[in-house]
Amino acid sequence: MSRNHTLFERARHSIPGGVNSPVRAFGSVGGTPIFFQRGQGASLWDADNTQYIDYVGSWGPAIVGHAHPEVIAAVQAAAVNGLSFGAPTEAEILIAEEIIKLVPSIESVRLVSSGTEATMSAIRLARGFTGRDKIVKFEGCYHGHSDSLLVKAGSGLLTFGTPSSGGVPADFTRHTLVLEYNNVEQLTQTFAELGDQLACVILEPFAGNMNLIRPSAEFVAALRELCTRHGAVLIYDEVMTGFRVALGGAQELHGIRPDLTTLGKVVGGGMPIGAFGGRADIMACIAPLGSVYQAGTLSGNPVAVAAGLTTLKLIQAEGFHARLGERTRQLVDGLAAAAREAGVTCSTDSVGGMFGLYFTAEVPRSYAEVMQSDRELFNRFFHAMLAEGVYLAPSAFEAGFVSAAHTEADIDATVAAARRAFAKLAA
Ligand SMILES: *Cc1c(COP(=O)(O)O)cnc(C)c1O
Repeated sequence: MSRNHTLFERARHSIPGGVNSPVRAFGSVGGTPIFFQRGQGASLWDADNTQYIDYVGSWGPAIVGHAHPEVIAAVQAAAVNGLSFGAPTEAEILIAEEIIKLVPSIESVRLVSSGTEATMSAIRLARGFTGRDKIVKFEGCYHGHSDSLLVKAGSGLLTFGTPSSGGVPADFTRHTLVLEYNNVEQLTQTFAELGDQLACVILEPFAGNMNLIRPSAEFVAALRELCTRHGAVLIYDEVMTGFRVALGGAQELHGIRPDLTTLGKVVGGGMPIGAFGGRADIMACIAPLGSVYQAGTLSGNPVAVAAGLTTLKLIQAEGFHARLGERTRQLVDGLAAAAREAGVTCSTDSVGGMFGLYFTAEVPRSYAEVMQSDRELFNRFFHAMLAEGVYLAPSAFEAGFVSAAHTEADIDATVAAARRAFAKLAA
């Protein structure tokens, strides 16, 4: 029996489902989760010391590769000075200044310890700032696991959402309206009816939690225009896209200035950091300046900040994102060609260091379209690739991630593995 099996059996006795975050359990793809013991660059080694080329990258943070020597050195140097003080440190100013420099719509920023905290706090802030309760989110977008954001679409147009998790009172999601991604007409109609009651609209500016879905230019333009006209706060949830699709995030690519932005993943460089920031007049509503309460014992933790700050420095290397985008494009083009050769129906897309692989004829543009993809085929592909030593996200509905440590040889090896995996699928 493999050590992964043994560890998973043992984990299930002390940890619910054997994991500390549900998708890790391989529930949708089946089989035994891989327990990792080590990462270096683009590779991971599991409990049996089997090596994998990694396209999960800790779900995004590992943009410079695993265990980058400069990041590790910064963490070690910070750690010997003490792990946490619950008081301000100079490094927090440095990372705040760096974030503000890279994301111009952010005039002021607060650090938290996860993406969930960042989005939850940004929503509370938008409500406090506007004095309104209702919020809009889009079907298939994930914004962390706070109560009012764990919502699925209601049954009809302009109905408020129902909780998508046990333990969330329907009363808590009563103010959350769930609309279709990329549906400009529905968005416009919603604002016409309820615009002056909306505190905010939150979106993933490239959705990465229902595979990868791009917004249309009309959709983002309508969002900005309608929020401005009706005094609703536009929140770009860039926890995944921030520093990954471009140095200035999705908003740089869209040419849109959101009112608030949430960050996570890359900003912590693999350590627990989230952040929310934006317009100074809105941020001034946060305690201790304003009445909207938000706090954290470990917020701005010096060891985490050291990892984040070093990562933000590394991604500013000349041509970093151009190279990352090019590498990612090579990967998806290679995967698409391999699928074609084998006669497997499959489409691909990428933006910066983020990619989508869909078992659909066309690249999907909404949650409903992505749900049409052939899950069974994906699951077989996932396991065939795993057997080839390629670690993909264990779900048909997650984006993939490439890091600066992925070499051309890694991409070539992955495409060669995919050719064999697709051939197996077609057989
Ligand atoms: C990952 C993610 C979150 C939640 O971040 P956690 O650090 O897992 O709490 C929120 N929003 C988006 C877009 C994400 O991808």
